[in-house]
Amino acid sequence: MFVSNVELHEACTMDEAFALMDRLEDARILAGGTDLLVDLKVGRASACSLISIKRIDALKGIAERDGDWRIGALTTITELGASECVKTHLPVLIDATSKMAAPQIRNVATVGGNIVSAVPCADLPPVFLVLNAGVTVQSSEGERCIPLDSFFQHVRKTALRSDEMLTAIVVPKPPDRFGAAYARFSLRDGNSIAVAGVAAGLEFNERGEIVSARVSLGAVSPTPMLVADAEDILVGNPLDDDACVRVGDAAMGACSPICDVRGSDAFRREIVGILAGRALRLAQQRAMETPS
Ligand SMILES: Cc1cc2nc3c(=O)[nH]c(=O)nc-3n(C[C@H](O)[C@H](O)[C@H](O)COP(=O)(O)OP(=O)(O)OC[C@H]3O[C@@H](n4cnc5c(N)ncnc54)[C@H](O)[C@@H]3O)c2cc1C
Repeated sequence: MFVSNVELHEACTMDEAFALMDRLEDARILAGGTDLLVDLKVGRASACSLISIKRIDALKGIAERDGDWRIGALTTITELGASECVKTHLPVLIDATSKMAAPQIRNVATVGGNIVSAVPCADLPPVFLVLNAGVTVQSSEGERCIPLDSFFQHVRKTALRSDEMLTAIVVPKPPDRFGAAYARFSLRDGNSIAVAGVAAGLEFNERGEIVSARVSLGAVSPTPMLVADAEDILVGNPLDDDACVRVGDAAMGACSPICDVRGSDAFRREIVGILAGRALRLAQQRAMETPS
């Protein structure tokens, strides 16, 4: 399979990228290409031109800014997983990066591409959702911030306009006694997309009661989603087995999985309940260990 009749353009700065986006008809942004090139080959996407952004330094790196972590859109999955900041402060991201694809893909696949693709089984979106993250997007007109919970609109459809580029994912610094974890099920250990994934983020007070909670699901609905009832079930109480089961039941009720070669809808629903318990317990453990 080949990608045919596509012109490749390279932008070295944001201004160059916006000029190309403005000038070229039917152009698509190319980052690592691990989603887009496959989509072009199988005919799921089409484009006359590709604008490679890989040389734009402003989109690279992880930095602390105004109490937030700013993860540049071009950060690769390997770089994200190897970051000392992530290892220390956001280990939930490693739960995802360590399971995604294979090292060859992780070396080129970017965080921005994983989010903009808006594929239901993508691993990073549910994790960023429980971290209360947002994205910054930029066009030649300026910049705007979009909370991640309103970014995903449908399968492969986001709030990004065609003249905009995703520049960074912004993760607020977690409070003390906060822990998060991601549990995913796939058919193999390597190079296998998620059949279902559940992320949990929990903040506790000094008495061990939950003061804020977010639980999100991946691969079991058209977009990554928050489980609306989880907060009501969890907040104000310690985490016990009964709470884990009730959140699992709420997650199973909230999702709308598909049935495909990787698993039936009933199977996916069932494992969502199990994964919810695992993610909650690991989040609790991490909250007790977090550096402040
Ligand atoms: C064999 C294989 C296994 C995989 N396994 C997994 C897995 O386990 N888990 C998982 O989550 N994913 C998996 N993927 C999917 C893919 O690797 C990721 O989604 C990856 O993060 C996409 O990033 P990219 O840089 O390659 O994006 P690209 O393919 O370059 O782009 C993807 C889309 O995003 C747009 N885009 C990219 N960057 C920007 C930006 N900064 N601003 C605006 N638009 C942008 C592009 O125009 C395109 O529409 C797998 C892919 C392959 C081929």
